[in-house]
Amino acid sequence: MSDFASTVSGIYQQTLSVIEAVEPRIAAATRAELTDQRGSLKLIASENYASLPVLLTMGTWLSDKYAEGTSGHRFYAGCQNVDTVEDVAAEHARELFGAEYAYVQPHSGIDANLVAYWSILAHRIESPALERLGAKTVNDLSEEDWEDLRATFNAQKVMGMSLDAGGHLTHGFRHNISGKMFRQHSYGTNPETGLIDYDKLLADAREFQPLILVAGYSAYPRRVNFARMREIADEVGATLFVDMAHFAGLVAGKVFTGEENPIPYADVVASTTHKSLRGPRGGFVLATKEYASSVDRGCPMVLGGPLSHVMAAKALAFAEARQQSFQVYAQQVADNAKVLAEGLMKRGVKLVTDGTDNHLVLMDVSSFGLTGRQAESALLDSGVVTNRNSVPNDPNGAWYTSGVRIGTPALTSRGFGAAEFDKVAELITDVLKATTPVATAAGAPGKAKYTIADGVAARTHAAASELLDANPLYPGLEL
Ligand SMILES: *Cc1c(COP(=O)(O)O)cnc(C)c1O
Repeated sequence: MSDFASTVSGIYQQTLSVIEAVEPRIAAATRAELTDQRGSLKLIASENYASLPVLLTMGTWLSDKYAEGTSGHRFYAGCQNVDTVEDVAAEHARELFGAEYAYVQPHSGIDANLVAYWSILAHRIESPALERLGAKTVNDLSEEDWEDLRATFNAQKVMGMSLDAGGHLTHGFRHNISGKMFRQHSYGTNPETGLIDYDKLLADAREFQPLILVAGYSAYPRRVNFARMREIADEVGATLFVDMAHFAGLVAGKVFTGEENPIPYADVVASTTHKSLRGPRGGFVLATKEYASSVDRGCPMVLGGPLSHVMAAKALAFAEARQQSFQVYAQQVADNAKVLAEGLMKRGVKLVTDGTDNHLVLMDVSSFGLTGRQAESALLDSGVVTNRNSVPNDPNGAWYTSGVRIGTPALTSRGFGAAEFDKVAELITDVLKATTPVATAAGAPGKAKYTIADGVAARTHAAASELLDANPLYPGLEL
């Protein structure tokens, strides 16, 4: 390991000096980012640290090749090596998740969701329409039939989790294309328990009759029963689309099994690769055989040329996640989240759903008299990096919020275990208790106003540094 890290140190030192010669500000920002990542207690639930092999794989000339199309069927000549890269990445993805089909081209989670939505429309709406009209492709349709089909796409209905209950903006939110493209109805959580109410979801679905039922979340601290979701989808004839962007690592690491594993139940699954899965920044889609040929048309449907260098890095990340050590990591992520949740609750912090059984915890900071924005800023001043987030039916709206979301994937990658996460819970509670809101004139612009009791921010910084120094990021890597 140290041999490898010192070799890599040499590579990065030389790379940075090459960058420096062209644009020093980029070299400086790249160096500074490593310092910042190393020095911050990163509790952002959607972030992680990819391995050095994954990072290195992204920095090659595979980036220079255009390869629109699919493996073996490209719109450009000379794609044989990209074919290999894409085939290997897809093979690892299929094997890792036990999926019938994998599409590894999406550039991000949002792109993966766009591929998922449009492939479902192609399969459920476009293909039957073509058959009915005796056309082979959309090019064979008359102008009039084409206009009708376009209007039909827009009339389709999607049902996903609401943003303030923990859903993602791609699940039908009006500021995202999913909300503009579809008629939308969202489901929330039970106001008493904070949990998904499957009976109510079924009743709502019966009434709304969605074409697509979306399961998955960004800020829901609990597991989802995908067998129940499948039953509900079947009951109303909906396609079950699972967005596992946040928790793909827990699926890959076999923490979510049985009815908590979406793969056997969903028609289409989309994900990121860079969150709990710990790969490069990117996305992918898994599908049943039935949906495979529609998903395969992601390019040119909503994607241009694939990022071949990133597909290569995805292949490495999937291969890493197939190792036993990744399962140990994923279990530790979930175990650490429990310790973090219990550590916060026993010190008086209120949590949405009173706990967690995945990788994230959603604190409701309103009992400290704080908005999510004030709490996020006070924690950041103390060296603790989090992000504010709405709680269900948030009285403070989506900008100020009443919640702060924290997660364990990143710090677990650095080697944090139960003792460290209990300490993290103590540090967070100390800061929240020491922070007092300062009233501002109504409508006053600018910063979140609060004060932190003397010495608390500095003390927390020092304690956080001690934890971080004991669990170094990329040990042995010297710039
Ligand atoms: C993060 C996330 C996305 C979007 O991923 P990007 O890579 O940022 O585009 C989509 N869906 C869910 C549920 C997410 O958590």
